[in-house]
Formats: sequence, C-alpha cells, structure tokens
Amino acid sequence: MKQPTIADKKVTKYILQRFGLHMSKRLGQNFLIDAGIVQGIVDAADIQPGDKVLEIGPGIGTLTQALCEAGADVTCVELDKRLPEILSHTLEAYDNVRIIQGDILKVDIAEIMGDGPFKVVANLPYYITTPIIMELLEKHLPITDIVVMVQKEVAERMAANPGGKTYGALSIAVQYYTIPEIALHVPPRSFMPPPEVDSVVVDCKVRPQPAVDLIDEKMFFRVVKAAFGQRRKTLNNALKSMGVDKNIIADVLAKAGVEPTRRGETLTMDEFAAISNILSQTAMEK
Ligand code: SAM
Repeated sequence: MKQPTIADKKVTKYILQRFGLHMSKRLGQNFLIDAGIVQGIVDAADIQPGDKVLEIGPGIGTLTQALCEAGADVTCVELDKRLPEILSHTLEAYDNVRIIQGDILKVDIAEIMGDGPFKVVANLPYYITTPIIMELLEKHLPITDIVVMVQKEVAERMAANPGGKTYGALSIAVQYYTIPEIALHVPPRSFMPPPEVDSVVVDCKVRPQPAVDLIDEKMFFRVVKAAFGQRRKTLNNALKSMGVDKNIIADVLAKAGVEPTRRGETLTMDEFAAISNILSQTAMEK
C-alpha cells in the first residue's frame, strides 16, 4: 500500500498532534516538510537498493521514509527518547530500517554499522554539526559518502578555499578526507518550524586516499589547529604556541618554503602537509 509522504506540512502536523509531540528547539528539531528537498537528498546520495545507510537524527522519519523507499538498508540513531515509539508507527510499513536510541557522539558507529562500506545521510541538528562531521571523518570508518543538510555558513566553511574568511580547520579536515560539493540550497520554509538560517545540502564524497601524504596525521591536525587557533596569528607564532623551539621553527618553515609571517588562512593543504611532515621528521631525528 502506498504510504502517505511524511515530508508534507499536513502529514507532519497530523503526526505531531496524533502523538502529542512538542518539538524540541534544544535538540535542533526542524523537520523537513518539502518532499522535493527530501528526494534531492536521496538523489545526491545516489541511493541504490541494498546500500547501507546511517541516518543521524531521523526525527519522525521524514528522510528515513524516502531512504527506505529507495531500498536502502537504513540504521538511524536518534537522541530524543520520545521518538523511537513514534517511528515504530510512522515507519511500520518498512522492514529495511533499524532505530537506535542514543547520542551519535557517544554510540560506537563501527559496531552498529558492522563490516562493509556505508553512506551517511542526514538533516543534521545544527547545534552539533561540526562535532558530528569531525567524528565521522576522524574515526576512519568505511564511509563512502556523507550527504548532510547543514546551515549555509557551515557549508561555506566546509568547501572554502585558502585566502577567504571562511577557510579554517573545518575546511582542511573536510577536504583532506573528502571532496565536498554543494548539492542543494534549502530555504527556511522547507522546514517546520522554519530555522532562522538558510540551509545547504553538502555531498562529501570520501576520497579513496586522503588528499595529501602525511607522516603523522596527528601532527598535521595539531599544526592546523594551532594555525587557526587565533585568527591573526602568524605561522611563526602558531608553531611557537605548539612549544616548537624558535631555531627549529625557522628551519622548518624555510624547508617548507613558507614565510614565517604568513597566517594560517593563506596556507594551502599542501603547505600545511609540508610543514607537518618536516616537523614529524625533525621529531624523529631527535
Ligand atoms: N531527519 C528529520 C527531518 O529531516 O525532518 C529530523 C532532522 S532534525 C534537523 C535533527 C534530529 O536530530 C532531531 O530529530 C533531533 O532529535 C536529533 N538529534 C539531536 N541531537 C542528536 C544527537 N546527539 N544524536 C542523535 N540525534 C540527535
């Protein structure tokens, strides 16, 4: 039997009323009510029957329903304890979905997703977008594609190039592991309630190999963090704040071909890689 589409204002209102659910602002609950956008997310993720998908924050099952209809094998993680019961009704027609109640930042994603590659598809709760994205990237999980709705400013930071105001540690992390592309622009009216910000769906295709060769990934991200720690810090001062000796700093930057007075926001990923690899080598030679 054809199921009513949850991504619809009337259907969503009905579900909220029927289960007496008051949406929580604190949990970033802005549910999609635009079936075109929901389908756009599924298309951006290129969902094929049998694809393993992790959905973060299913809410009342709006996007989940479309993923199920596309034939994905869906695992959802939802923090709000009131929702699994509601989801068992709204998604009762589907046997290709599993709901786990928990915090996406605390559950063991590798364990719940098991072996084999999977995709992440989500309309993220905006209050913890960056920690979630970093968690997905840094854990070295077998993820092939991350398709997420985020606030427009975050999408701009994810896809930013060196030199601009939006370029920072998030740009480097996302672009080191993935190739991010803006898939859809989404206005506030596509949600209930409408958020105060514009939204964007970003499609991050995970690279088979990270963008640059590193001797020590931890060292690379320490340098990146130090360089963007204080926006106007020079590279010289950034490395100083990491406790690197001043003579070594001069030597490392000269070898990497980076002027000590340059600031983090002007450095390319290759330049960050060169600095961190020379630092790692120096540490190994000590
Ligand atoms: N997927 C639904 C949709 O598109 O309409 C709901 C998206 S809503 C923007 C974000 C969802 O994430 C909410 O259902 C919220 O309860 C859930 N959430 C918030 N924090 C979470 C966390 N730490 N772990 C898992 N889910 C979380």
